[in-house]
Amino acid sequence: MINGMLNDELRALQSVVRDFANDAIAPVISQHYEDCTFPYELVKGMGELGLFGLPFPEEYGGSGGDYFALCLALEEIARVDSSVAITLEAAVSLGAMPVYRFGTEEQKRQWLPRLCSGEMLGAFALTEPEAGSDAGGTKTTARLVDGEWVINGSKSFITNSGTDITGLITVTAVTGVSDAGKKEISTIIIPAGTPGLGVAPKYSKVGWNASDTHELSFADVRVPEANLLGVPGQGYAQFLRILDEGRIAIAALSVGLAQGCLDESLSYANTRMAFGRTIGSNQSIAFKLADMEVRAHTARLAYYDAADRMLRGEPFKRQAAIAKLHASEIAVTNAREATQIHGGYGFMNEYPVARMWRDSKVLEIGEGTSEVQRMLIARDLGVTSALQ
Ligand SMILES: Cc1cc2nc3c(=O)[nH]c(=O)nc-3n(C[C@H](O)[C@H](O)[C@H](O)COP(=O)(O)OP(=O)(O)OC[C@H]3O[C@@H](n4cnc5c(N)ncnc54)[C@H](O)[C@@H]3O)c2cc1C
Repeated sequence: MINGMLNDELRALQSVVRDFANDAIAPVISQHYEDCTFPYELVKGMGELGLFGLPFPEEYGGSGGDYFALCLALEEIARVDSSVAITLEAAVSLGAMPVYRFGTEEQKRQWLPRLCSGEMLGAFALTEPEAGSDAGGTKTTARLVDGEWVINGSKSFITNSGTDITGLITVTAVTGVSDAGKKEISTIIIPAGTPGLGVAPKYSKVGWNASDTHELSFADVRVPEANLLGVPGQGYAQFLRILDEGRIAIAALSVGLAQGCLDESLSYANTRMAFGRTIGSNQSIAFKLADMEVRAHTARLAYYDAADRMLRGEPFKRQAAIAKLHASEIAVTNAREATQIHGGYGFMNEYPVARMWRDSKVLEIGEGTSEVQRMLIARDLGVTSALQ
């Protein structure tokens, strides 16, 4: 299946992105990470390569590829750095995709060309201080007043929401209550800079230090009624779709990190001397490397499978959850083993594996925690108690 999926065009894309990661990202990223600065020049470079437009049609400024192409690019970038990879992932799969999937023709023409070129970044604001895994607990509200949505509330941990080039933030908000008393959630586009939109200073994070993450507040933010994405009340279904897809992308990113850990560890194990021989010549280290390869390979198969099903139009929810769960957990394991193989140097920030170790943990949290993935898989298997 894998060889069939990787045609010449996709292999060429992999090679171009791999060169970009090695030649453009690797030399500068540890300084950005150390300084917690956003790598604008790398975003520009990814824009020039067409990476932000990968899964979108050319008529909207896209590259005319598909979601699998995006995943391959994410894997190659994360092999070198995850801050840059998550910036691309969030911009495409969370920022631009809702506009493409649910927007009107006018909204697509207004936003997608600049989102596809990387000139502008989009953000998707679902998580709230008291509503993360339980996104149905959303408290942010949007009321329709005189042809405008008036939005009040707050959101937590929103990627790409406070850069100089952030153009729009898609926000989920409660727009009503059904007759059965259920919250009606809708998604609304808030252009960056809209009065009342507060962007808090960036978080101090354990990892992904060169990515942009902020808390947002909305104090009577007013946007035109036409900024609604799709139909009122469809917000819940919309973000479930966006997150199902996004899990395949996070799985690809996780595989990239797991592979990067192996790349670094292999070369270190073959050169680092102890007791008069390379550390890799010890079977215990060689076996760690073999196991890292097994993990990266099987997780790659899992995300290829989920992407394949999605592109064929088949149900893919369970496979996306499996890929995300497995890939994020093996990424954490590979990062831990890579640090171990590097000994004390693995604990020094100048070594890429230290960065990968710090970046790995969030993979088990973002776009659905490992527990949420297990709930989704159990529910899809028909375990009724997992519905709660
Ligand atoms: C760096 C970063 C970037 C992010 N970017 C974005 C973004 O761009 N947009 C966005 O909307 N969100 C974003 N998030 C938010 C992320 O998706 C949430 O943090 C995640 O969904 C978990 O929500 P929570 O943090 O509220 O944890 P909670 O939901 O409070 O969960 C806490 C713990 O309880 C567990 N738990 C909860 N419910 C259950 C249950 N029923 N059974 C068993 N265990 C349970 C969870 O698995 C977790 O271990 C980002 C987060 C981070 C850290």
